[in-house]
Amino acid sequence: MPDSKIVTRLTEIVGQRNTLTRQDEIGAYQPEGARPKAVLFPANIEQVSEVLRFAASESLSVIPAGSGTKLNLGNITEGADIVLSTKNLNRIIEHGASDLVATAECGTLLSEFQSRLREQNQFLPVDPPHLLSGATLGGIIASNDSGPLRLGYGTMRELLIGLKVVRADGTVFKGGSKVVKNVAGYDLPKLFVGSLGTLGIIAEATFRLYPIPESSRTCLVSFDNLDNSHESVMSLLKSDLVISSLEHLSPALASALGERAGIDVKGNSYTLAVRVMNVEKAVRDQMKTILDLCSKAGGSGVMVEGEKEEKLWEEIREFTSRLSGPGGTVARANVLITDVPGVFRLLEGFPERSGIEVYSSARAGNGVVAVSMDGEREALVSSLKELRIFSEERGGSLVIWAADSNVKKRVGVWGNIGTSLGIMKRIKRNFDPENILNPGRLV
Ligand SMILES: Cc1cc2nc3c(=O)[nH]c(=O)nc-3n(C[C@H](O)[C@H](O)[C@H](O)COP(=O)(O)OP(=O)(O)OC[C@H]3O[C@@H](n4cnc5c(N)ncnc54)[C@H](O)[C@@H]3O)c2cc1C
Repeated sequence: MPDSKIVTRLTEIVGQRNTLTRQDEIGAYQPEGARPKAVLFPANIEQVSEVLRFAASESLSVIPAGSGTKLNLGNITEGADIVLSTKNLNRIIEHGASDLVATAECGTLLSEFQSRLREQNQFLPVDPPHLLSGATLGGIIASNDSGPLRLGYGTMRELLIGLKVVRADGTVFKGGSKVVKNVAGYDLPKLFVGSLGTLGIIAEATFRLYPIPESSRTCLVSFDNLDNSHESVMSLLKSDLVISSLEHLSPALASALGERAGIDVKGNSYTLAVRVMNVEKAVRDQMKTILDLCSKAGGSGVMVEGEKEEKLWEEIREFTSRLSGPGGTVARANVLITDVPGVFRLLEGFPERSGIEVYSSARAGNGVVAVSMDGEREALVSSLKELRIFSEERGGSLVIWAADSNVKKRVGVWGNIGTSLGIMKRIKRNFDPENILNPGRLV
């Protein structure tokens, strides 16, 4: 079918005002520079189904999107005939405050969802990047993005209990429910966590919620060297403290964040940001224990609360995009907790050897090191390759989160996927036999 007829049919399904076709309007909805024939904003699940049925019949590739904050995640896309954004699927369907569960359409912005839940003093404890600039519930599930709260509350995998998905052939599939323990057989909703839009368009989701803690405080503790800061990380993790977030900031990042958040951080030091969220007395007592433990390893700390604390965590959450800027390279090294100092040492050498700028923060209780890099392409490629070898040799992995396509191609987004690739491909074929959804993102 000629493009003009395709666009006409798509416009019939979702309506003129919910269709973008002009290059100047498409803006952020262009995965890796691909030029979609149309960007669609269906108003309801029926329209999503109809678009997919039509796409399948014409073999058109469909890129699911929320706000488009992470559209480039994964391998370079092999096709983008249609971008389908869930932005208009943004109703909060039910908030069962007494049962600590809520169901919402997946185009709902996380920030709006949190505002509604806050009315009942509850929240969904995820804090991924782009929280303020438009991350939607569906996009967060599909990318399994997470932030510093991951230590205390886990990721979407732990919080998602039910899902409604439109499959590639347009049929609607429901998995799980609003009952927290209700999974018989395979836990299918979890299959969609991190599926990057390759298995279906997530339309609705049900989450378990938590009460907003009465009090929150953070101490920022600086150390003269990495051995001492790591020793404190290990003492904190082995203690019976209930820590919500524990970030281990590289000296460059600590200085930059201190400046941005208006906090006096000791220059050129590895710094821990330790957050406790609990009832006031528990927060006070635990903060004291944390400072005592850290000072035994030579750390000196400042306490942060209120607006300054919020600002600090916003800067930590967003540093990969704010410090590296548009087009920056972002990677995540996933290693054992005890290998985090090794990753830091490797990164420390890059600026001098390759002339690149590096900022990094370890989610120290999870072994996830977020790294942002800026510099010459060749230097970026060789540094990322080195980091991947280091991580994989220790049983971990390095995932490229954002980079220009040339860097992605030369380094590879995922690295060595091991024996699960065949199974993943079979799952993909089962859900999307014509390979119309986000083709190519899967290795
Ligand atoms: C479509 C698809 C392709 C994958 N390709 C590879 C691969 O080539 N090599 C490899 O080592 N692993 C791959 N994985 C698996 C997955 O990325 C790894 O398991 C992940 O790196 C580690 O997952 P995690 O649960 O430990 O950490 P997580 O915290 O879940 O994942 C780390 C980050 O990797 C990203 N991620 C997870 N799953 C996907 C995904 N599906 N597509 C894109 N990003 C994802 C997430 O956004 C996530 O935040 C793929 C998974 C899927 C569903």
